[in-house]
Amino acid sequence: MIVRAGILYDGTLEPPKQNVDVVIDDGRVKEIRAAGGECDRQAACVTPGLVNAHAHLEGSGEPDMMAMIETTTPNQRLLRAVENARKSVKAGITTIRDVGSSNAIAQDVRDAIEEGRVPGPRMRAAGNVLCMTGGHGWPIGRAVDSPWEARKAVREQMKAGADCIKLIATGGVMTKGAVPGNAQLQPDELEAAIFEAHRHGLRCAAHAIGTEGIKNALRAGIDSIEHGTMLDDEAIELFKQRNVYLVPTLSAPTCILAHIEEGGMPKYVKDKARNVNEIMLTNIRKAYDAGVRIAGGSDAGTPYNYHENYAMEVELMWSLLGMTPQQALHAATAVAAALIGLHRGLVAIGEPADLLLLDRDAGKDVRSLQDPQLVLKSGVIQ
Ligand SMILES: [Zn+2]
Repeated sequence: MIVRAGILYDGTLEPPKQNVDVVIDDGRVKEIRAAGGECDRQAACVTPGLVNAHAHLEGSGEPDMMAMIETTTPNQRLLRAVENARKSVKAGITTIRDVGSSNAIAQDVRDAIEEGRVPGPRMRAAGNVLCMTGGHGWPIGRAVDSPWEARKAVREQMKAGADCIKLIATGGVMTKGAVPGNAQLQPDELEAAIFEAHRHGLRCAAHAIGTEGIKNALRAGIDSIEHGTMLDDEAIELFKQRNVYLVPTLSAPTCILAHIEEGGMPKYVKDKARNVNEIMLTNIRKAYDAGVRIAGGSDAGTPYNYHENYAMEVELMWSLLGMTPQQALHAATAVAAALIGLHRGLVAIGEPADLLLLDRDAGKDVRSLQDPQLVLKSGVIQ
């Protein structure tokens, strides 16, 4: 297949290429050359497929996520996860990392996609989150209350097919009674889990909102901080020294606040989201300006935060963090892909042919990502 692009953003920060043909062979990009001769598809703008580094496929944006977990069966949630995987890939998300699911749902969806049974993005899955007893995320979590339990919990997740590990370093918005600013898993528990995961080649992500928990996770050797809301100057230094990714999930509080007047969300979710949102923008922007690597991830599945709306996170990185559209696209493709570690997230020779065909220049209007004309994953139309 030959795809002709009026303008091609390859996922890097290099100047885009004008009027080129992307030649696809056997699911991969074989050649990128000056446009000419016959072509199969044509678009004003072509970009890499989007990469969402933070999602929960079994959640569909229900206003009360924890109540949804309690009132549905694992089979029902599995079916919803399958539906959300299909919606994701149709919306242009060709790679996704599920950072917390119940009943190994994410691993099963990942495998079904790989086997070609259902459509969806290529995936990594963390399985259950590792949290302290009663800690944030416990309804989809495995309780861990000592370093040895942390090691064992990592081994259990690996046995259940997880290919990354999620650690709960602080409280969070969605769990009743969990205070976002408070540290939860302790440094020795984090260290033990991360050491064990890294020993087997699995990367670790930490849910971390409060300052102390963010720094605990950074010092313990974490690969990415999810949310990072209350980071301080010392945390920024640790991020940079250790080359850790920050996944700010701007969509999560933004979606809650946009629907704050509607019924269905517990009061504690609304109150916590309000508090978090106030400090989030200043701090994340400070980290970005200081040179911390920002990877795109939306926390899709949380209230009103739909899987098919990941383009909104790209838009928020542009409108709230002050990235250019191309920088935001870079964060949501190459940087997020580097964090996940399945491929490079680029339109480059030898890479999987994951392409979005857009009707207008994403570098001029980042919103063009919201509605791709065509999505290719490994050269196949989705
Ligand atoms: Zn999350």
